[in-house]
Amino acid sequence: MVDLLLSLFPCFKSVSQESASHGARKPLNTCKFCFVSKEKGFNVIYEDEDFVAFVDRKPASTHHFLVVPKAHIVSVRSLKQADAELVKSMEVIGNELLESKGIPPEMRRMGFHIPPFNSVYHLHLHVQGLPYLSSGRAAKYPYCVGQGDNSKGLTWFAEVRQVIRILEQGKRVGVLPC
Ligand SMILES: [Zn+2]
Ligand SMILES: [Zn+2]
Repeated sequence: MVDLLLSLFPCFKSVSQESASHGARKPLNTCKFCFVSKEKGFNVIYEDEDFVAFVDRKPASTHHFLVVPKAHIVSVRSLKQADAELVKSMEVIGNELLESKGIPPEMRRMGFHIPPFNSVYHLHLHVQGLPYLSSGRAAKYPYCVGQGDNSKGLTWFAEVRQVIRILEQGKRVGVLPC
């Protein structure tokens, strides 16, 4: 119950949790996204010093890739203001990948699931070239515009530009409007 509350209201995070998540960005033996490689069965399409990208195993759209940082970052909820640059780097990689597939900007969708509505607890940017393959799959990636001071509405999926804006405002990303 406490976990659920914390995930819905990230601002309630206790100080101890905060310090536990901070600095815990070294690879975790138990995390499959910390060790992405062709040898491990991933269809790797991009790699540099800090990031790796691969084809999603269950594509929701015509093109569907995941961009992950090599450092272990739990989720979009772990990100702070200083991480806006990291998210921008992920967005650049995502755009380059979609560009290479000839996907025009209006047919691109990129974003993050917000815990507890995520599958893997290692930050991963969904990079999609639309259209979606079915309305059921599209429903997993809802885009909800924010109102007033909020960059994002009530939803379990945050679009990459929304995340950058929220972080740059010094706020944290959660399921509730933020
Ligand atoms: Zn990891
Ligand atoms: Zn996801």
